[in-house]
Amino acid sequence: MSQELEGQHRLILIGPQGSGKGTQAELLSVYLQIPTISTGQLCRSEIEHGTELGKKIEQWVRGGELVPDDVITAMLKKRIADYDAQDGFILDGFPRTVAQAEASESWMRPTKVIVLEINDKVAVARMTSRRACTQCRFKTTAEYVAKHGDECPRCFGKIVQRDDDSPEVIQTRLDMYHRVTQPVINFYRDRDECERFNGALSIPLVFMEIAHVL
Ligand SMILES: [Zn+2]
Repeated sequence: MSQELEGQHRLILIGPQGSGKGTQAELLSVYLQIPTISTGQLCRSEIEHGTELGKKIEQWVRGGELVPDDVITAMLKKRIADYDAQDGFILDGFPRTVAQAEASESWMRPTKVIVLEINDKVAVARMTSRRACTQCRFKTTAEYVAKHGDECPRCFGKIVQRDDDSPEVIQTRLDMYHRVTQPVINFYRDRDECERFNGALSIPLVFMEIAHVL
């Protein structure tokens, strides 16, 4: 069973927090009219719907275990076979390991692997500056709040900093990212499909550069 249709975009998006990965995924999704598929979101959806698989996933997560590769793979294969993914998809959070990357070669060869690079210092500065509305999730920065106050311009709610955006927590997540994800980047690095971008540049600039290579 091959999912690899002609002209299909099969994008793998890799980048740490603060690299603008989430925003680029949204922009690419609109630009190419293809869905962003996040393995984390697929897991959460199974849990929310109370499925048998969701109950198992909950147990693994509670026990501090990773969801097994074959489970992730099965969920992903099912999702990319959906009608809305026939022109392609953007994978966020997969492959998480070199084993997953290797195993996926037989059923999902990426057309592009997009790596957003940013050094830790810039990523931490960006993340600690993040502010969001508690009601409508409007996203902004500490600079905005300093200038305009903490009232949300959209819904008049309150703009705050999330608890898990402290520099220590962010650095821990970045350390984890380097440990887990760098081998995956190395796996793809020497291929023609692998494209690296400077995630420290502005969102529109990075987006234009990505669009240019697609
Ligand atoms: Zn708001």
